[in-house]
Formats: sequence, C-alpha cells, structure tokens
Amino acid sequence: MKALDVDQTIMARRREIVAALRAIIPGEAVIDAEIGRRPYESDGFTAYANLPLVVVLPSTTAELQAVLRYCYANAIKVVPRGAGTSLSGGALPLQDGVLISMMKFNKIKEIDFENRCAVVEPGVTNAAISRAVDHRGFYYAPDPSSQIACSIGGNVAENSGGVHCLKYGLTTNNVLGVEMALMDGEIVRLGGAFLDAEGYDFLSLVVGSEGMLGVVTEVTVRLLRKPESARALMIAFDSSEAGGACVADVIAAGIIPGGMEMMDRPAIHAAEDFVHAGYPRDAEAMLIVELDGPPVEVNHLVGLVEAIALKRGATQCRISNSEAERLAFWAGRKAAFPAVGRLSPDYLCMDGTIPRKQLPRVLAGIAELSEKHKLRVANVFHAGDGNLHPLILYDANKPGELQAAEDFGSDILRLCVEVGGVLTGEHGVGVEKRDLMPVMFNEIDLDQQIGIKCAFDEKMLLNPGKMFPTLHRCAEMGRMHVHQGQLPFPELPRF
Ligand SMILES: Cc1cc2nc3c(=O)[nH]c(=O)nc-3n(C[C@H](O)[C@H](O)[C@H](O)COP(=O)(O)OP(=O)(O)OC[C@H]3O[C@@H](n4cnc5c(N)ncnc54)[C@H](O)[C@@H]3O)c2cc1C
Repeated sequence: MKALDVDQTIMARRREIVAALRAIIPGEAVIDAEIGRRPYESDGFTAYANLPLVVVLPSTTAELQAVLRYCYANAIKVVPRGAGTSLSGGALPLQDGVLISMMKFNKIKEIDFENRCAVVEPGVTNAAISRAVDHRGFYYAPDPSSQIACSIGGNVAENSGGVHCLKYGLTTNNVLGVEMALMDGEIVRLGGAFLDAEGYDFLSLVVGSEGMLGVVTEVTVRLLRKPESARALMIAFDSSEAGGACVADVIAAGIIPGGMEMMDRPAIHAAEDFVHAGYPRDAEAMLIVELDGPPVEVNHLVGLVEAIALKRGATQCRISNSEAERLAFWAGRKAAFPAVGRLSPDYLCMDGTIPRKQLPRVLAGIAELSEKHKLRVANVFHAGDGNLHPLILYDANKPGELQAAEDFGSDILRLCVEVGGVLTGEHGVGVEKRDLMPVMFNEIDLDQQIGIKCAFDEKMLLNPGKMFPTLHRCAEMGRMHVHQGQLPFPELPRF
C-alpha cells in the first residue's frame, strides 16, 4: 500500500496547531506527547501504523465544530475515530492530520419504547445500546463480533454487520437518523425518529461513508423486540461444498434463519481449542444455524433445517435444547478471530461478499491460492449473506510475509468480484482494499463517487487517502486536462 505524502508545511506548524487546539479545548483532551499519541497509531488493521499529528477528544458538539472550523480554515486534514476496531484501516491516522476521537460522546440521550427507537451519541458501544433496553425486552439488532468495544459511530461509518444481519439487516437497515458535523463545522440532520424522511435519501449515503463525508455526532437507532425464543443447530459436513449447498437449500426453502454461519476445519479446530464448545474436530466444515421467533415456529423450522442438512449429507447434526447449549454453540464462533490469533503471530482478516451459490467455487479457489502463496488460511463466514472472512495467517517478522499475505488477500477479493461479488461485506474499503477499487469500478464510477465526496468536503480534508485509489482535487473533477504531459495541480500528492 502506497502511503500519502506527508505535508511538511503542516508538520513544521505542529506546535502552533497544538496551541490553537488547546485554546479550543483546554486540559487533557488535546494529546500532544508522543507517548500519548502512540496508542492511536493504528486500528484493528494493525499491519499499518502512523503517529497522528495530534489527538483531540472533544466532549461536545460545540467543541467538535470549533475544531473542524479551525482545521478547515487552516487546510489541516482530519481523521475521525471511534473505538479503533476497524479491520480495513478506516481510522488509520495521518502524520500530518488531526485525529479526532469521538469516544467522549458516550451518552444514551433518549430511549423511546413507544416509537421503538433510541437516540445515542456516537461513542456509545454497540452492546451498550442493547444492554440499556434489555429490561423491557428490546435490543439493537446488528451485532458485529466486536460489539463490546466498537462504537455506534464506527458502525454507521462502516455499515457494520454481524451474525444476525441475514434476518434483521445491517446498520443501514437499523439506523433512522444521524446528526453530523461537516468539515467546515456546519451541522446537518438526516432522518430522525420517524420511518421516512423527505427529499433524497442522504442518510443511506452517509451510512457506510467511512468517515469521509462528516463526523457523526448523534445516531437514532431502531429498537426491536427480542425474539420469544431461539434454538441453534450445529451441523457437520465432510466437505465445504456440502455445507455451501446446504446453505443455498435452506434459503431456497424460504427459511431466513436469525443467523447462518460457517467455519472450515482450521477455524473449527482453533475455536474448539480456545473455548471447548464441543465442535466436531473431524468435520471439514460446520454450520451454525439459528432459528428465532415463537417456539412453535422455531421448533417447526428446526425440523425443516435438520431434514435439509441430512439430505445434503450432514455427518452430525446437534440441536440446542437449552439456552446454555445454544450459547455454547455460538461461543466458538464469536471467539473465532481471537482463537485463530493463537495459530500464528499475525493474520489478515479479509472481507469479500459473493453470491451464495458461488460458495463452493470460491472456497476451492481460496484453497488453491493458499498453496500458491504458501500461507495457511482459516475460513469463518456469514454463510447466509455470502460474506466471507478468510483469515490469512502470516508472520510479520519474516521478511516478505506481509506482502505475500496482502497479495493472497488481493487474489481472494479479485476472485470474489470475478464470480459476481463485491470487495467488502461489512468491514469497509479503508486503506486495505483501496487499491483494489478499480477491480470493481471503472474510472467513471470512481469519478462519480469522488464527486459525492467533493459535494460534502470540497477541500478533501476529511479522512483522505481512504477508499479512493487516486487522490484528486475537487476542482479538477470532470475537467482534468493534461497539457504536454503536465498534470494540473502538480503540487497535489498522487499515489
Ligand atoms: C475482533 C473483531 C471482530 C469484528 N467483527 C466484526 C463484525 O462481525 N462485523 C463487522 O461489521 N465488523 C467487525 N469488526 C470491524 C469493526 O469492529 C467495525 O468496523 C466497527 O464498526 C468499527 O467501529 P469503531 O468504533 O471501532 O470505529 P473505528 O475503527 O474507530 O473507525 C472506523 C471508521 O469509522 C469512522 N468513524 C468512527 N467514528 C466516526 C464518527 N463519529 N463519525 C464519522 N466517522 C466515524 C472512522 O473514520 C473510520 O473510517 C470487527 C473488528 C474486530 C477487531
């Protein structure tokens, strides 16, 4: 991955910038010392790190607005950050940019059970929302595995998903409104505590915009009633192909499980060694299928799924008979990432999405690529959504292994696009998949998307270097003219 050029004029003004930010937010909320900035140097995509110019933690919208106004006036880049769990480097800081941590925006402002929504600040963790409404039998549906740590602001920026999104939708289906500050400090509200808003659907544009259109200061989320009951099946197969075919059959039968997850042999072993959930060690693939709803419906669907699985040659099919057993089935899947972390010093977590029927072909392709790149891989994925998470194992201390892992990951994502899929399902593009965007989009597509970015942030100061493979200046959009080999705006760093 090629890094952005560092603006030395900004670096030379660091002291002055820190002093100006301290005048806006006095006290400890401006972190200047290197030892204090170090913990922010990367996010969940730990292969890359940059020490931020300075870290700022505003507590109020007014403070945030003042910081943004100052950065806008002085052409200083800004990177918004939630909990820093992004797996695509979305919150990777810039050496010449201010890192704005939104974690002091941590209040639940309103819970409205009658309208089934809650208004929360962006630093509230995903799990805290469900905890706050649990006593009345409600919850917030999207459930990324990182939910105890990740913030709802980060979820909005990444359009995060989780095991229950097959039935209940991703963040975009569960957010009703946002308030956000634009790069020049202006506040805009999109949607709200109602089901539809007037005008263009800008809310959908902002969900998944990876911190590049505005800094989210408030989120209105949809609350759902907790299902009356849930049961899970743990189904073993002697090939990934059989497991993939079972997934397709369940959906084709008109059943939408609350969750349908698949793990391959290396992932099963890693999870079993870690949490001892009773996973079948002799299986090549394992499905966890959860059905939820009224008990009579759940029991009926459990029987249907079991019959489909047996018809597809399942070698084992266990059905949970208690809540403790259901949670035990999930324990290994939920801990799969840390469990795989014990297999090798480092791993890259990929995130491509494919049409479900292509699962067998892509899994076979990943196995071939593993041989080609001489690196091991463990597959954990949201099978129902066709959202793959191959975990590529490598050792960053061995020369060349990071590059080999990245090449392997790129080949997997190219394969996803080749079979009609997309580069990301839920982790975002960030810096990780930025250079692969031309695999999926042509130049016109990309220009249109950059045009939207320019409409919100014409100086390109908000989280630049993420998502788009070429950095443009908004002024050149649509009319870049190369004269005698000379690009316009030659001072603009291009990568
Ligand atoms: C172990 C593990 C498991 C994971 N499992 C899942 C999973 O199951 N599903 C899934 O979807 N993801 C998963 N993730 C990825 C990650 O947790 C999500 O992308 C999450 O939404 C990031 O939230 P965050 O608060 O950590 O955001 P950060 O990492 O801090 O930032 C992510 C992006 O959001 C932007 N951002 C953050 N806050 C704001 C704001 N207030 N306004 C504007 N932009 C903002 C940042 O600029 C950045 O582009 C996992 C990560 C880990 C480490």
